[in-house]
Amino acid sequence: MHDDPAKPARRLIIAIDGPAGAGKSTIASRLARKLGYVNLESGAMYRALALKAIEKDASFDDESALVAMAQDSRIELEPTIGGNRTLLDGRDVSARIRERDVTEAASRVSVHPKVRAWMVSHQRAMGEGGGVVMEGRDIGTKVFPDADLKIFLDADPVVREQRRMEQQKIKGELAANVAADLRERDRRDRTRATSPLVAAADAVVIDSTAMSEDEVLARVEALAQAKLR
Ligand code: C5P
Repeated sequence: MHDDPAKPARRLIIAIDGPAGAGKSTIASRLARKLGYVNLESGAMYRALALKAIEKDASFDDESALVAMAQDSRIELEPTIGGNRTLLDGRDVSARIRERDVTEAASRVSVHPKVRAWMVSHQRAMGEGGGVVMEGRDIGTKVFPDADLKIFLDADPVVREQRRMEQQKIKGELAANVAADLRERDRRDRTRATSPLVAAADAVVIDSTAMSEDEVLARVEALAQAKLR
């Protein structure tokens, strides 16, 4: 990785952004493992706040209530060997936050500028020392505009929907629902006024439509290694 033993290796900040189903999570976690970095899923934080809103019966449209709730919460991302855990006020909510109601709610709470500002400040604090692969929608544009490497991972919408269905092993009517949800979340992410999903001007855009996961990983890893030289 680096040749001079007297000089410690730089620990990069790597941002991976893109729409749902483009393969960000898998690539981010595999890349982090290869580099010995921490993989931080920023989306899990929006999901944890959304879960709290569901449990407290708060409106997803009430920005002030959501921010107050965030300030009053402990949302922790805990990287472990077997995958990342998400803790909400000390409780492991890793599985619960992947369910459909939370997924939908996360997409709605994330449109609020003050909610985003709270998230961004915490995400910066978590990643500032480097040695992180952080994935999300606004990592390269807002959270770490000076990240060492920015990847924008995209794929054809139909392919993204298929991948998501295969990942969740679903078919038929349920699959149609998942596809519709994914499209709506995408639309919301791309059209919101604050930090819409967009590639940073200096991001490397990778279209994974016709690429295997291993090919994408190899490409991203080569880009990271080039930054380390
Ligand atoms: O990445 P994931 O699907 O877990 O994110 C859940 C939701 O959180 C997304 O649909 C998106 O609206 C929001 N999000 C965001 N900014 C991020 C990460 C996620 O707005 N950096």
